[in-house]
Amino acid sequence: MEKLSPMAQGLMNRYQRAGEPAPDLMYVDRGCCRQHGATSVQILFNRWVDAGMVIRLDAWHWMHRFDAAVRTDSHPKYALFKSALSGALFAYNRADIELLVKSERAASLNKYRELQDDEVLRHYISKSILKHHVRRVTLGAQETFRVVDNAIQQLKGPDGLDDNGISLFKSAEAIDEVWAAQQKHLECIQDPPGMPMYTVVRQSTRNGIHLPFYSCIRGNNSLEGFHLHLPRMIPGMLISRTNDLYCFEWCRKLINRMTIVYI
Ligand SMILES: [Zn+2]
Repeated sequence: MEKLSPMAQGLMNRYQRAGEPAPDLMYVDRGCCRQHGATSVQILFNRWVDAGMVIRLDAWHWMHRFDAAVRTDSHPKYALFKSALSGALFAYNRADIELLVKSERAASLNKYRELQDDEVLRHYISKSILKHHVRRVTLGAQETFRVVDNAIQQLKGPDGLDDNGISLFKSAEAIDEVWAAQQKHLECIQDPPGMPMYTVVRQSTRNGIHLPFYSCIRGNNSLEGFHLHLPRMIPGMLISRTNDLYCFEWCRKLINRMTIVYI
C-alpha cells in the first residue's frame, strides 16, 4: 500500500488542480469494506472518501471468488452456478426489454409470429445489442442472499453432481466457508442507492424503432453480457417477469427444476 500511496495522492492532487470534484463512486477488486476500521483503499483515497466517494466491490470479482470452492470450471453444473450468482444480483429493466424485442419483431413479422418474447430475446438478440439497449439493476442484498443461499444449498446435494456422481463443490465445508466470507460484501456489490448507473449516449433506430443507446458506469463491464452468454449454454432456460423488472429468473427456476432440466 505504501508504494501505491504516491499514485493515489498524485491522482487526487491532479483532480484538485483541475478543479474536478471527487468521484462519486469507485469500483475495486479488494479492499471494499471491513467490519472495523478503514480499508486499504479507503486509506489510499482518504480525501475522496471524506468527500463522500462510495467504494463498491466489482461484482465480477465477487462471483469469481466462489471458484475457490469449485472442483473445476468444466463441471457441467458450473455454468448453472455462475448463472445463479449473476441472476441473484441483477435484473433487467422490463420496459427496455420489451422495446428491444419490439424492434426485433419489426424486422420480420412472419419470422417471429409464433414466438414468445422470451424466445425472441433468447435466440435472436445478441448480448452486445442487449448490453447497449437494456439497463440492469441490482436486486438488493436480501434478495441476492436468498437466491445465492438457495442455489448453494441445492448444489451441495444431488443436484450438484455430474453424471459420475462428482460434486461441483470441492466439499460442503469449502463452499460454506467461501459463502460465509462473501456474505459481508452483499451490500457493497449492490448499486449505490439513488446513483444513476446509466446514461443515454444517443438515440438509435433499429428496424424503424427508436431505442436509447445506454452507457453503464458500473465497474463490472466485463460482466456485461456474461450471464447472457450462459443461458445459451444451458438447455431449458426460463425467463419470468415481475411488475417492474424483467428478471432472468431462469437460474432460480432451473435450480428448482434441475433434475428436469438436466436430462
Ligand atoms: Zn465489501
